Formats: sequence, C-alpha cells, structure tokens
Amino acid sequence: MQARDILLQEKNIAVILLDVVMETEDAGLKLVKIIREELNNHDVRIILRTGQPGQAPEERVIVEFDINDYKSKNELTSQKLFTTVISALRSYETIMSLNKTRFGLEKILDSSDSLFKIQSMNEFASGILTQLSLFLDCKPQGIICIEESNDVELTPPLLPGNMKIIAATEEFSCCVKCNLDESCGHQDIATLIQNTIVTRATQFCEKYSAFYLDTSETNAAIVLVCSEDVIDAHDRKLLEVFTSKISIALANAIHYQKMITFEKASTTDFLTGLNNRRQLLRLGTPLLALANRNNCLAVAMIDVDFFKRVNDEYGHDVGDIVLKKVADLMNERFRRSDIIARYGGEEFCILAPSLTTKQAFELFDTFRDAVARTSIKISDTQSIKITLSIGVTTDLCPDLDDMIVAADYLLYRAKHNGRNCVVVK
Ligand code: GH3
Ligand code: MG
Ligand code: MG
Repeated sequence: MQARDILLQEKNIAVILLDVVMETEDAGLKLVKIIREELNNHDVRIILRTGQPGQAPEERVIVEFDINDYKSKNELTSQKLFTTVISALRSYETIMSLNKTRFGLEKILDSSDSLFKIQSMNEFASGILTQLSLFLDCKPQGIICIEESNDVELTPPLLPGNMKIIAATEEFSCCVKCNLDESCGHQDIATLIQNTIVTRATQFCEKYSAFYLDTSETNAAIVLVCSEDVIDAHDRKLLEVFTSKISIALANAIHYQKMITFEKASTTDFLTGLNNRRQLLRLGTPLLALANRNNCLAVAMIDVDFFKRVNDEYGHDVGDIVLKKVADLMNERFRRSDIIARYGGEEFCILAPSLTTKQAFELFDTFRDAVARTSIKISDTQSIKITLSIGVTTDLCPDLDDMIVAADYLLYRAKHNGRNCVVVK
C-alpha cells in the first residue's frame, strides 16, 4: 500500500493509472475504495488499466467503483495513453477550479457573516483586512480609508488628503498621522488610492491591490499589501463578489456608528460629557422607584458660586474649562451608582442612592471642600479657585421633579447662608 502513503503526503496528484492485479488479484480495486472513502479524495482522476479484463469486467467495475476511465492494456497504445492522460488532466483542472470557487464562496459567506456582527468601526476595519488577506492568502497588511458622505461636493476627483484613514496595520501605522500627504513615504499607495477613488474601481498592481467599496454613505478604499503572486482572473471575479458583500457590511457598520453617535448626542452634555437633563430624568425615574422601596435617595443641586465673575474676568473659554473641571471632579469623587448630570448652565444635579441624610451631608460637604481646595489651571501661568453651593434633599417624593425642586430650594438657602456650603434636609 505504498500508493496510499504517497497519496497521503502528496495532496496535488492529478491522475492515477491503476493496475487491478498487483499484490493481490484485486489490490487495485481496493486502492480505489481507500482513495475515495478513507482518504476522502474525490478529485484525483483514476484510470483503471488491466491486463486481465475477465478479472475485473468493465461494466461491473465502472458502476461499482468510483473510477473515471477503464482501459485494457492491449488497447492502450502510446497515442491512446497520451489522449487519455491529457483529457484526465483537463477534468482535474476543471474540478480544481470549481473547488476553488466553492472554497472562495464559502469564505465569502463565512467572513461576511462575521463582518456583519462587528459594529465598532475599528474592529470592522481590521476585520476587513483580516478577511481579505485570508482570502488572498497573504499577510493582513494595509490601510483602510473612508471618505465621509458630507464631502460629496468634492467629487470628482478626490485626493487622498480628503480621505480619512480609519485603520492601518503596523507597516502603515505612520500613515494615520500623515494621512498620506506629500511627506509620506508611501507615495505609491497614495497614487493607487487616488486612482481607486477617481475610477471608483478596484486596482490590482504587482505588490498592492486597492479595493474600492461603494456604500451609499461613504466611499472607501482599502489597500492590502500582497507579497504573493499577482491576483489571477478567477480570484478577481470572486473578489468582486467579496467586496460587494463587504460594502454592504460596511454601510451597516457606518449606520450603526451614526446611531450610537446620535444616541450619545441626545443623552450627553456636549461640553462636560455628563448626562444631560433629559437623560437625568430618564435614568432617575427607575432609581427613585427603587428608592421608594428601600427609602434612600439623595438628590443634590449644585451651583458654582459667582460663576458670572469667572466669565467676566477671564472669558467664556475659561468658564468652560472650569465647568469641565467641576465635571471631572464629580466623575472622580462620586460612585458608579450615582447619576451625575449637568442640569443647565453652571448647575449640576446628582442622584445618590442608599444614603442616610447624615451620610448625604458628609458626602456632599467633602466634595464641596475638595472643590474649594482645588486649583484649576486656566493657562500656563494662572490657576483659579471656585466654590460651590449645594442643596440636598433626602425627603422622598413620588416624582423626581418634586425632589429636584426641593433640592433647588435648599441650594437657594445655601446661597443665602453665604455660599460655599451644603444645606441638607
Ligand atoms: P451665584 O453664586 O448666585 O450662582 O452667581 P453666578 O454668577 O454663578 O450666577 P448667575 O446666574 O448670575 O450666572 C451664571 C453664569 O453662568 C451666567 C452664564 O453666562 C454662565 N454660563 C452658563 N452656561 C455657561 C457655559 O456653558 N459656559 C460658560 N462659560 N458660562 C456659562
Ligand atoms: Mg452660580
Ligand atoms: Mg445658577
């Protein structure tokens, strides 16, 4: 069974000329079974060749055994042998090409499935690079750039400078900063991307291939470094299918990203990154429902003292720095379970669950003290200090708005008491 061992090692044998009678009377027929069933090799072409047709009659053998041709030794002249082998090689070539298409399509289906699941843009970008390089059997090296749809008035022609690189592998990591400008050492890539965008078609070159992805939202060009051979016509066809699938997945990821950005914008204060008032009420309502059961929720209104003076003296930009600093201190000092929001202007609101009135006073007074001690850097040479007035209520109401009004009233009393203090009830 030397033939079996060789076939195990050599995966790309195309044709076997097989004798029937060898070690035993039916050794050849047994080998056919081994090749097809045990080695699971259905591609190699098997031409059975026998000196004793009586031993293995053609009709029975061709039906029972998965062979591709049957020749008795005396009919196999050198001319016949030549013709038989050439046609067997042709069949093998066709089978290989079909296999390649099938594997390619399977890969496309698998990878686009996984790409559709990815929603973060960076992960998606590296996913595309990985899948494309798997497909092309090369190292996943390259960059992905995207042109935002609001640049449409710039088309055509678009220069690489109008594109934003959203992902790059190690070799091209420097390009993320230079965005392929004139200083970039990868001018060949810059030109290739430019061609890709202008022609809106995938470009194949000797070392690089730039794939053009057309989505309704953006135009994207991907460059993959291929150290392997030039991509053949067969693979190019498959890549067309592949890139059209990727384009849809890319549009999907872009839509998702936009949704997240929109969602964030509608719940977050743009200056401080804290929850906005709307989100405070949304998150606070279930918190209050829970508090009504275990009887503990502190609602605090916090106002920066004499903040108008900061604006008047140093300008609104400095005012903004101060507001951001107050927000940062809040994020540092309060618990994850507390809800911190910018209520409006220089007023903040904090919902702190599971605190007694005494604990609430201590928590907010410590915070007030910490802020009063903090020097806030407003330029290279200057720092300022600010103080806070805080009103805190722990009297539960069924409606969060009512607790906020109560805390605001206590804040007013804190102002009246001379500012830089906490009033709790
Ligand atoms: P008080 O101690 O009584 O609270 O005095 P105050 O000066 O802090 O209060 P006032 O309500 O008179 O002024 C608040 C100022 O906050 C006025 C407004 O211009 C400023 N302000 C509101 N929102 C912003 C902002 O987003 N950025 C900046 N820089 N200033 C803001
Ligand atoms: Mg104020
Ligand atoms: Mg105010």
